[in-house]
Amino acid sequence: MNKEKKTLKIKLIKKGIAIDHIKHGKATEVLGILGISNDFPDSVTLAMNIPSREMGRKDIVKVENRDLDPKEMNKIAIIAPHATINWINNYKVVRKMPVSLPEEIIGIVRCPNPSCITNKEREPVKSVFHVMQKDPLILRCKYCEREVSEEEI
Ligand SMILES: [Zn+2]
Repeated sequence: MNKEKKTLKIKLIKKGIAIDHIKHGKATEVLGILGISNDFPDSVTLAMNIPSREMGRKDIVKVENRDLDPKEMNKIAIIAPHATINWINNYKVVRKMPVSLPEEIIGIVRCPNPSCITNKEREPVKSVFHVMQKDPLILRCKYCEREVSEEEI
C-alpha cells in the first residue's frame, strides 16, 4: 500500500485523542465507553480491520476535541488491553501512553452472580474485581469470588 492511501484512511486531527492498537472488532465498544453517539459535535474517525504487524488486525479510533479520564482509560483497558492512547495537539502526537489495567477494577464491571452482594437491590455494594489475568482477561469478584471472563463483560 502506498503512503498516500494510508493517510487518506486515517484522517489527521488537529486536537484530540487517537486510540491505536484496539483489538480488531472493538472500535464501536470504545466509542460506547467514550459516550460518543450520533449527536457528538466533532469529528470521529473509525478505522477498522487495519493490518498490524503485532496484532494481525487492529482498530483505531480518533476523536477530535476530546480527552480521556482515568476511568475511561481503565474501561478501554478491559476491552482492548493493548491499546495505546495518543494525545494530539496541532496535528502532532504530544503524548503517548499504553492503557494499563489496575490490579483492582472498581465500580465498572457488573458481577454475573445474581446473589452477589454487589447486585443487591437495596444498598448494593460497589463491585470490586481483582485482575487475575490480563489477556485474555479474567477477573474475580472480591465478594463472591466468581470468575468473569472477557466474553461475560
Ligand atoms: Zn460477585
